[in-house]
Amino acid sequence: MTEPSPRPGRHLSRLALVAVVLTAATPRVGAAQSQPRLDIQREDGSTSRVSVLIDRGYAAVPISVLSDLGWTVIAEGSGVTISAAGEMAVSLQVGSPFFRWDGLVLQFTDAPYRAGSNLFVPLQLLTDFLPRRLPGLYDYSGDRSLLRAGDISLIGEELDRLDELRPTAGGSEPLSPVSSGGGMEDGPMSADEVREAGPSPYDGVRVVVIDPGHGGVDPGALGPDGIREKNVALEVGLRVAEVLRRNPDLEVHLIRDDDTFVDVWERGLIATDIKGERPGIFVSIHANSFPARREARGFETYFLSDARTEHERRVSAIENASITMNPQNVDEESVADIDFILRDLKNYEHAHWSEDLASLVQDELDDVHPGPNRGVKQGVLAVLTNALMPSVLVELGYLSNSTEGRLMGTGGFHRDAAAAIADAVERFFERYPPGNGLGSDREER
Ligand SMILES: [Zn+2]
Repeated sequence: MTEPSPRPGRHLSRLALVAVVLTAATPRVGAAQSQPRLDIQREDGSTSRVSVLIDRGYAAVPISVLSDLGWTVIAEGSGVTISAAGEMAVSLQVGSPFFRWDGLVLQFTDAPYRAGSNLFVPLQLLTDFLPRRLPGLYDYSGDRSLLRAGDISLIGEELDRLDELRPTAGGSEPLSPVSSGGGMEDGPMSADEVREAGPSPYDGVRVVVIDPGHGGVDPGALGPDGIREKNVALEVGLRVAEVLRRNPDLEVHLIRDDDTFVDVWERGLIATDIKGERPGIFVSIHANSFPARREARGFETYFLSDARTEHERRVSAIENASITMNPQNVDEESVADIDFILRDLKNYEHAHWSEDLASLVQDELDDVHPGPNRGVKQGVLAVLTNALMPSVLVELGYLSNSTEGRLMGTGGFHRDAAAAIADAVERFFERYPPGNGLGSDREER
């Protein structure tokens, strides 16, 4: 407790930055007086205006916009393929945030959906993926909600041009941030290679970012016999990583692998940078504490959403309070501020998948944990806010309970809990296989 606390102002400016990025990509409902819209300007100078729907809480446009831009749209069951001049194809699946872009598997923040007979795709496809991946054909100005679209018949030349620009894959750690231009760093296969190989199994990786909570000067909750939350979290986190690294389909990262302090806001940002456009998830590992009720015990898993109960609010406040590095002493006022900022971000797009992941974690832990199973919970958790992917926070048990606290200090518990979390992660990816838009072209197991 000797190091200075990070200044709140720094966090606020980081949040403001995130907010700006989100605002640019997502027209706001704002004062609700005007319908959100997207203007499209074609290479011949003609313009058209597209109404943007926000009824699902995120911006979406009818898939017919893609047809209007010259793409061929073929819907079959819940799968949709958008292709351009026979040169490349994008495969989407209704209800899944994962999609294939030629040989790559990428991830929306939201999923395509059907309403009546119409199919809607996240606006992000037009404002983010098209401009980023085909910069010679598309350019998006967030200030003006204007998408400039080139001639789709030139897509072959654009793909050739990008192939030439592409740095030769050197097998380096893909740590490039999402905002790094062309985003080619994640694609071991070129468009040409994909075309030559024809339909191929997905050979990319799914990214798992494990976040052992607290660390360094922030011990987290304190248990019996000097057991500290930061150490339990690290022991379990290291073992989760060890287990998952045996799976060649996964690329596993740890936010910290030793007793280091990492700012709670930074953790999600780091995870988001690591993931890039690839499919990925974020799992933050913690232990609970309720000194005023020492009989409290059991495990629970949180996803990011509004806290509904006093208990959820209390746990969220404790975990968020590590911002001030004083987890046992929650400053009500600053927590209220943070809640407000987090709500304003409206960054709950992954709630559905996060909730699913949370329930898998609870399921698996139930097999190895003496319990009770306290279930899936939700809260406004700072650490999950900047992780733009399905994200959960696991509370492995109560360090304030002497029996459970001591159990959490044992190697056997660390191993069992880690194996359970690892199983949950693998089950999650089985449930949502990347590129599952067209299941026939990928091999399982
Ligand atoms: Zn914690």
